[in-house]
Parts: sequence; structure tokens; C-alpha cells
Amino acid sequence: MSTSLRNIPIAMPVLGEAEVEAAARVIRSGWVTQGPEVAAFEQEFADKVGAPHACAVSNCTTALHLALLTVGVGPGDEVITVSHSFVATVNAIRHCGAIPVFVDIEPNVYNIDPLLIANAIGPRTRAILCVHQLGMPCDMASIMEVAKSRRIPVIEDAACATGSSIIWQGRPSSVGAPIGDIACFSFHPRKVITTGDGGMLTTASAEYDQKFRLWRQHGMSVSDRERHSSHSVIFESYVSVGFNYRMTDIQAAIGREQLRRLDDIVAKRRHIADLYRLYLKDFSDLQLPFEPSWARSNWQSFCVLLPRKLDQRFAMQHMLDQGISTRRGVMNAHREPAYAGPGSARIGSQLSRSEYAQDHAIMLPLSSQMEEEDVALVAEALKGAMASVRTVELA
Ligand SMILES: *Cc1c(COP(=O)(O)O)cnc(C)c1O
Repeated sequence: MSTSLRNIPIAMPVLGEAEVEAAARVIRSGWVTQGPEVAAFEQEFADKVGAPHACAVSNCTTALHLALLTVGVGPGDEVITVSHSFVATVNAIRHCGAIPVFVDIEPNVYNIDPLLIANAIGPRTRAILCVHQLGMPCDMASIMEVAKSRRIPVIEDAACATGSSIIWQGRPSSVGAPIGDIACFSFHPRKVITTGDGGMLTTASAEYDQKFRLWRQHGMSVSDRERHSSHSVIFESYVSVGFNYRMTDIQAAIGREQLRRLDDIVAKRRHIADLYRLYLKDFSDLQLPFEPSWARSNWQSFCVLLPRKLDQRFAMQHMLDQGISTRRGVMNAHREPAYAGPGSARIGSQLSRSEYAQDHAIMLPLSSQMEEEDVALVAEALKGAMASVRTVELA
């Protein structure tokens, strides 16, 4: 058999001449850092997701840091979240001097189990940081119910969820429209749209939005743009200790082009996810990801749970040998040295589902450039991995 070996990467950003032109336009303009393009990108992003305010920053980790500070998280406070997330989620909590409290995930959706939140709340709980993991929206109705009854602010880590939506109060609503208090997005190339690196905060609160703007720019009372375009001399002041979390105008110009592609990218990703379901439907001991009826994922990642007896590393290697890149299940922060020490985290529930998902799930390649034959190849390789384990057992 001579099927040519093609490499199928785990993900591929969609970048083209429009982005090249946009970056060039900004460079030619002479204004390269946070300025008019950032302002336009913010407005377009806010309109796209239906948020009253959007503030661009350097990445999602800095967005999460500002979000937590804004709702008042400080040293010694606790923030309820999942261990089962990219480490940036919990690092942002530690950057505030606060302590993450880890609760387990729901099986198959890989998101925080809302039933475990109430029990993990303590006297120092200052926020709930839920993660729309792999692009799948969390069960916000249940989360908001617990949060509202205890008056605890909710921050959404929507790093992976640009273009995902949720049926909220009977109507489809983009992730980023006001449900929680603040949502934070990432534009890293591993997410569905990219600016190289980049982040965005959305909120319904004008007061929060002002804080983001102050802190992202050194705590400076006047923006560079205002000062630059003013006809009278302005002296700025530094009203609180801030950070440099700016996005550049080069990134923002690229982001504006990416935003124009978003609907098309999400539609194509959803089509690939449908094809995966079709090609994997007879793999009875493989668990496919579950999309609740009120959720519409952008399928930032398509995560499958392997049969218990199939070794994860073996399966991944088997697929890689055929040119197919996969990734293991989402990491668990509580198993990492950075979070194993005393005082760096509190365990708020059993974490057995989080650990099981890390050890037994794999993410299959998914990009909007994939063709049906690529999906078929991935399915074939996965079938091969599952079959060779059986052979080993029988031998
Ligand atoms: C990627 C990611 C982040 C971090 O985003 P950056 O833009 O790289 O800082 C945070 N949380 C989750 C869940 C992520 O997947």
C-alpha cells in the first residue's frame, strides 16, 4: 500500500495575506504600540461577542491577573477553580498572592462540576474562576446560581472559547457577553484566532473596564493616544501601581482580520468535529466529548477518552509514527511541583476525574484546514492503536 505519509499537526492557525497587509499597514503608519488599532479591535470584539466593554491586553494570563485584581482578590484570599487546566489559570491566582482551591471536573465535558463548588467555599473565598475548557462552555446557569446566592464574583477563563456560545436565558449568547462578571480570552496560536500572543477582557461594568485600562498601562491616568492627540499640554499622573500589559497595534490589526474570519473558522471546526463523530462512531470503548444541549463549542480541541486498558503514551506514539500529532489530556496543576508545596493550593474536592482525564484522554488534530480524508486517516490510526493493544494482550 502506498498512501503517502502526510503529517497532520495538532493545530494550525489561519493566517493569510489579509493579516500580512494589516501588519504592514500599521508598521507604515509609524504608530506600532497600543493606539488606534487596539481601540478598533476592542470595539469590534465587544460588538462581536455582545459585551458592553472589551479591553485588549498582552495575553490571557495577564487578562486573568487583572480580572482577579479587579474583583478584589488579594493575598491570602481563596479562588475556587479547577486543577484540570493549563497552568496559566492558577498562576494568575498566585500572582495575586491568593490560593487556588481545586475542585473536580464533570466527566466528558472536562469542565468544573458545579455541584462541588458550594462545598469548597470558605470564609476567604473571593472569586470563582471557571474555565471553558477546550472551547466547551461551562454550565454557567448552575455556577451563577451558587455564586449569586453567596455573592461571589465569577470570572470566566475563556482562553479557548472565542467563538463558542451558550443558550443563556433562552437565547444564544456568545461567550464573553455578560454572564459572569468578567471573561478573559487568549489569542495564542493554539487558540482559534491569533494575534501571535494577545488577550482580551470583556465585562458589563464600566468601572471594571476603567481599572483594566489603568493597570494595563502602568497605572497612568492618561493614555498615550489622548496625550498624543491633545492640543493642550497634559501632565499624566500615576494613580496606582500598574503593569505593562499592553497589546501592540500590530497585534490588534492582525486580530481585526482574524475576527472577520471567526464565523467561518468556527463553522469549519464544527464540521470537522461532526466528521470525527461519524468516523469514530463504531469505536464503542472510546468516549467522545459531550456537548450539552445549551452549549455550542468552537471545538478548540477535540478530546477523546481512551479505553482504560490502552496506554496513553503508546497510543500517542503509534499515531505520531504515522505522522499524526496528538496531545495528552489537560494537565492537572496539583500534580506539578509548582503547586505541590504547602500553602500553594487547597484541595476542595476529590480530583479523581481530573486525574483520569489527564491520564486517559488525548486530543486529536483539529484545524479548519483539515479535509475529510485527514479525519479518516486520524480515525484509522487511532483504530490501529486500539487494535495493537489487543494483539499484545492476546500474545
Ligand atoms: C491558553 C490558556 C491560557 C493562557 O493564555 P495565554 O494567552 O497564553 O496567556 C489560560 N487559560 C487556559 C484555559 C488556556 O488554555
